[in-house]
Amino acid sequence: MWKRIFPVLFSFGAVVICSVSCTSSKNFTEIHPVQDAHSYANTDSVVIRHLTLKLTVNFENRQLDGTATLHIENFNQARTLILDTKDLTIKKVTANGHTAKRSFKLMPARKVYLGQPLVIHLNPGDSLITITYHTAPEAGALQWLTPRQTAGKKHPFLFSQSQAILARTWVPCQDTPSIRFTYQAEIQTSPDLLALMSASNPTEKSPDGLYHFTMEQPIPSYLLALAVGDLEYRPFDARSGVYAEPEMIEKAAYEFTDTPRMMAAAEKLYGPYRWGRYDILVLPPSFPFGGMENPRLTFATPTVITGDRSLVSLIAHELAHSWSGNLVTNATWNDVWLNEGFTTYFELRIMEALYGREYAEMLEQIGYQDLKRVMGELGPDNPDTRLAIDVDDRNPDDGLSTIAYEKGRSFLKMLELAFGRPAFDDFLKKYFNTFAFHSMDTDHFTEYVREELVRHRRRVESRIHLREWIYEPGLPENCPVPDSPEFRKVDAQRAAFIHGRPAGELNVKGWTTHHWLHFLRALPKNLPRERLIDLDNTFTLSASPNSEIAFAWYQLVIPGHYKPALQHIRTFLLHVGRAKFVVPLYASLMKEKAYRAFARKVYEEARPGYHPVTYAAVDKLMSEKH
Ligand SMILES: [Zn+2]
Repeated sequence: MWKRIFPVLFSFGAVVICSVSCTSSKNFTEIHPVQDAHSYANTDSVVIRHLTLKLTVNFENRQLDGTATLHIENFNQARTLILDTKDLTIKKVTANGHTAKRSFKLMPARKVYLGQPLVIHLNPGDSLITITYHTAPEAGALQWLTPRQTAGKKHPFLFSQSQAILARTWVPCQDTPSIRFTYQAEIQTSPDLLALMSASNPTEKSPDGLYHFTMEQPIPSYLLALAVGDLEYRPFDARSGVYAEPEMIEKAAYEFTDTPRMMAAAEKLYGPYRWGRYDILVLPPSFPFGGMENPRLTFATPTVITGDRSLVSLIAHELAHSWSGNLVTNATWNDVWLNEGFTTYFELRIMEALYGREYAEMLEQIGYQDLKRVMGELGPDNPDTRLAIDVDDRNPDDGLSTIAYEKGRSFLKMLELAFGRPAFDDFLKKYFNTFAFHSMDTDHFTEYVREELVRHRRRVESRIHLREWIYEPGLPENCPVPDSPEFRKVDAQRAAFIHGRPAGELNVKGWTTHHWLHFLRALPKNLPRERLIDLDNTFTLSASPNSEIAFAWYQLVIPGHYKPALQHIRTFLLHVGRAKFVVPLYASLMKEKAYRAFARKVYEEARPGYHPVTYAAVDKLMSEKH
């Protein structure tokens, strides 16, 4: 439930836009208003405390149809409630359970990606506002899959993706991460389908297709989530398990079996898991992301199911978001590194606890390579290489890159090294406890670090370059450079191959996905064709069922016009919709004049199966001049 830690603050009437006011530390008791450029909501006067959804899922029309009742607190006697909406058809607004209609107006969009503000007239004493509405077939958060696009091929499938600012395309709400509310929902669908949400969930289909959900902990709107499909459940233990289509459920249960151990490791590090259950939903392959940390129910791509549990760091990442992101939340999308950098650091700590330091070092090295590559692409003076980015005039998705994840992680690792692991772990534990169920912005986090970590260790302060790390572009000199002994072994094999050793004579015994990624990524792009054939024939790389390995291989061979891979690239692009793979692959293909017609043809065929997030990015690069 909403934790009123410091009720005194409520008398100021602005607590809802106070991002980090609620702490015992004397320096953090002031109210700091946070302006969110990505929301129209008048949260300085009215806030949503609870949401009640009643929706019918209509696969034929690709529509959610029903009501959203907002339980509001109007602490400034505001005469209007301004909500975020995009592509919603508003049929009626009523108040306090009465049937009399309340006047409302959809105002023009300030920017297309923000959608339209819905302005509702308020009377004194209004506390319940009910909006009757339906979504558009092209609602940005919702992907409606035909049976053909699922593993089972018999039933349709629906899933949502609300982050960053897409909740407004299926629920009229205050769509900003600085506002939290609890929710209940009633979802009507067909009896042969199971509905799930980021809430308490059923484990079996209901005979009438009606499902009830409760989310007791207050969450920001971007964590609202819904999925409907032919799904089964397998428990791991009393508080965690996995949902997937029947065709995938056994594989998924095998792959993610370490989930309870991950939870135990995470709790040991940074305190209790506060969300009750932790389940995983494996989605069809068109899911555009690796995972989405919807509370109580992580949404995960099936592309991490490899059969050897080698990509389960994704689950460690989504689980870690239960602390960094879901519990302590970025106040605006300019602060997204507070969600993603912390989570990437935490993810590696969980992986280290479960699989040892050597394994975590490989992950760290891969992340660092990604960081260096993206830093090189963006250029060290690019403002988007700051941790404190500025996406106020953009769609927040356009400013999000590896920087938030890996520069953020490197920053925390640097602090760990500077202050020692025990002190840094104490600091993080206290941070999650102090700001649980609140938002945090970059300035106040910086103050908090100074107050809690640096204050008694002034000599360290000059060495850590706090300001430079957070507010300046590029990578500071004291960025930790990870070392991986395992990867040094891989380096030796790669060097031998480059100098002529046949692929069949390389020592690849015991290599995991990460060894392969390291091997492939650093091979020269101009390898002679016969060397590529040797590698491919020896290790069946073009047809690899492991999406990470296949992707790394395709990125290596596209510039060299290695034709035998083309049919496999086509199959991959038709099957997988994960943006991390799909967007760079089309970009690589379009860079090669000889492959442009091929890329356009495959895209034409594949596009209807992609999520809007994925095809928006590919559309953009296809329309660029080549
Ligand atoms: Zn994340």
